[in-house]
Amino acid sequence: MMIVMRHDARPQDVERVLERVRALGFTPHLSQGHERVVIGVIGEARRADPGAFVHLPGVARVVPISRPYKLSSREFHPDNSVVQVGPAGFGGEDIVIIAGPCSVESRSQMLEIAHAVKEAGAHMLRGGAFKPRTSPYSFQGLGEEGLRYLAEAREATGLPVVTEVMAVDQVDLVAQYTDMFQIGARNMQNFALLKAVGKRQVPVLLKRGMSATLSEFLLAAEYILVAGNSQVVLCERGIRTFEPSTRNTTDINAVPVLKASTHLPVIVDPSHSTGHWAYVTPVARAAIAAGADGLIIEVHPRPEEALSDGAQSLKPERFAQLVREVRAIAELVRPRTASLVPGGNHGSAPGV
Ligand code: PEP
Ligand code: MN
Repeated sequence: MMIVMRHDARPQDVERVLERVRALGFTPHLSQGHERVVIGVIGEARRADPGAFVHLPGVARVVPISRPYKLSSREFHPDNSVVQVGPAGFGGEDIVIIAGPCSVESRSQMLEIAHAVKEAGAHMLRGGAFKPRTSPYSFQGLGEEGLRYLAEAREATGLPVVTEVMAVDQVDLVAQYTDMFQIGARNMQNFALLKAVGKRQVPVLLKRGMSATLSEFLLAAEYILVAGNSQVVLCERGIRTFEPSTRNTTDINAVPVLKASTHLPVIVDPSHSTGHWAYVTPVARAAIAAGADGLIIEVHPRPEEALSDGAQSLKPERFAQLVREVRAIAELVRPRTASLVPGGNHGSAPGV
């Protein structure tokens, strides 16, 4: 349930509603919209009685939220949320492009790639120091040494960094180095980890599990929001289907469906969703055309030497071409001033 305050509600009216919510055993969640304040009532929804709030001064209306996820729903927060990571604003007017190697391999590799992707137009740098590998015999990442190289590459280029955190006991360490946590596909439903990053004021890039429905994806984001961290960016990274010719299947549908369902920014990872460098640029174009707020792309100067995911890594010059192409598409499809909420005059689109 959410309580929508009137335009002219006074701060003491808002305070009184918050007190009533708490007194009834629920947790209030305040959202300061462009035009008005909305208070989410978090707790066992069935027990909440709208009658307890409708008559309080300053209350415009009480709206039941029909979705299983609440704080991440567009019903709760109709405006797009912008997640700021340094100068990069996910969900704002411009698309955000993250690029870098799958794994941090060495100091020189990281510095070389950081300069190359910056030159090509990337806004953020990626690189895994803790790697979730299918086989325990594969390269597992450099750990803290890798985090140091990432931080050094950030100092050298000014690009904010995103890197994966795989376990609750890594959160403190990774937070010392990164500008944004990545939660990988395999950990999308690691609820203890979601709660742990939810307690930090560090933005989170949450990747969709490879067999997760969009509702499950949004409920995973909800764990982070409920814990107190509202800076979540969703990433579609391909799902498992019966089709073996690509590593995964890019669920392009997920982009408009998520944009209709949630105010959180949505980006696409065409590297993991296709698994082959030749398909990365076409799918990146499709993602931006479908309304994605950005991309995360694996780039390596010598993909044949990469310690992980070389087959899907773009060489820097190909990445530079991708940036030019997706920027041209973004110019066409992204409204400059109007709201990005789909639906226009036809009413809002159905979500999940
Ligand atoms: C990665 O970004 O390198 C990665 C392991 O991604 P995912 O969790 O989507 O497989
Ligand atoms: Mn990878």
